[in-house]
Amino acid sequence: MDRAPDHSFARLRELPSVDAALRQLEHRGLLPDLPQSLLTDIVRDRLAARRAEIMSSQNLEVELRDPIEMLGEALEAFANARLQPVINGTGVLLHTNLGRVPWNAAAVNRAVSVASGYSNLEFDLETGERGKRGDFAEFCLAKACGAGATTLVNNCASALILILRELANEPRAEVIISRGELIEIGGGFRIPEILEISGARLREVGTTNRTRLSDYEKAIGPETGMILKVHRSNFYQEGFVEEPSLGELVALGQANQVPVVFDLGSGAMSHLEEQAPVSHEPTMLEAMHEKVDLVCASADKLFGGPQAGIIAGRKELVQRMKKNPLFRALRCDKVFIAALQETVLLHLENHTETPLPFNRMLSADVDALKNRALKITEDLNGANLAVGQSVSRCGGGTMPRDTFPSATIDFKPVHLSLTAAARVLRGASFPVVARVEKDVLKIDLRTVFPAQDGPLREALQVLIEADRESSEANVRDEG
Ligand SMILES: *Cc1c(COP(=O)(O)O)cnc(C)c1O
Repeated sequence: MDRAPDHSFARLRELPSVDAALRQLEHRGLLPDLPQSLLTDIVRDRLAARRAEIMSSQNLEVELRDPIEMLGEALEAFANARLQPVINGTGVLLHTNLGRVPWNAAAVNRAVSVASGYSNLEFDLETGERGKRGDFAEFCLAKACGAGATTLVNNCASALILILRELANEPRAEVIISRGELIEIGGGFRIPEILEISGARLREVGTTNRTRLSDYEKAIGPETGMILKVHRSNFYQEGFVEEPSLGELVALGQANQVPVVFDLGSGAMSHLEEQAPVSHEPTMLEAMHEKVDLVCASADKLFGGPQAGIIAGRKELVQRMKKNPLFRALRCDKVFIAALQETVLLHLENHTETPLPFNRMLSADVDALKNRALKITEDLNGANLAVGQSVSRCGGGTMPRDTFPSATIDFKPVHLSLTAAARVLRGASFPVVARVEKDVLKIDLRTVFPAQDGPLREALQVLIEADRESSEANVRDEG
């Protein structure tokens, strides 16, 4: 066994016991508001790790830090990992890492009321007998999508797996798909892998950039289960490209009695190009208009709802999906059904002013954003704070080409590094996620709700002070 260097023994003696450390942390106000058992475990683990580090270290300098301060930081980092709201200053509307689309107020309220008590989830209030889960939401959704029927599952990935399980089975397990659509959506979603785990067999046709109707036609045979079309939601192709239209594929499927399924993913419900300078994104209604057999989409992207997978299409096929044993394993929680139901109702209403946060952010006027930025920077009166401009994007694997102008608050730290400054903002009592661009920290106001201007201002105040204090600390160090 290695002998510890001599200096380590002194260092080891300086380490407090778990109990003593907890007492001192409490005394210094460094204990986060979390269950005692969790805090004890973390402190014990950190002290053990520290002990091991000292035993193996030859370097005295790294060991000079106050162990209580170090434990306090570790506990703070742990507590910060708790799921909590943050201010999205990135300008990316559907930021997957920040939870994709925010819910609308009606969805939040209905979800809270349904979650905090009992509900008619599977109970018919008319007859007093057993009812069907999600019936109302599915009916309204079918109306909004122009579909024969719809149903809901956990997310779009599960929707696709369910569809493949039901429609691509031996002896007809083959799924015909263009080589230009064997895509990765991100976060472990790759079309070929989804097919594989569903038990389907991939039948690739065409090339990366060009697939013709005749390529599909030639591939149809006795083993064909379905034709799958995947919306290239997160990238685009330009140049020498060709693909048949959805309508042509549907006609081909009908002529050969092969169902055509469209993985739309993004799930737009309205014409977004009328709300912002973005390109046209295919809507659920348009897909249904082409008489495609089934469409699947995410409810937490352009649809503006909770995480869920929407399956819409021919009634008989949707019924088959609901009868598949896998359906039970993928079903939605009541809270998500409640939120989705309210979101669909909003889509069905003709609002002049949209109550959907996504569409409000998308269509927000740059001058209005600039005025908010001005107000905040004037209030703070920080020399290194300015109103700037930038471009917002949709994100979440949608409309990859489109950027639209936006207004930002720019902070140029004088003493802190950009990384340290971004960290200060993330550590604010309402954490702010900013974007680093060259030598400035940018907060895009398009994705900051007006109601968050107050907490944002406070976080910036903290940042300005941290920057100043960091300069004073430097001066002290030098002096
Ligand atoms: C986003 C997306 C998916 C995955 O949706 P989830 O709801 O995240 O499972 C699938 N297909 C396409 C085309 C998408 O854009």
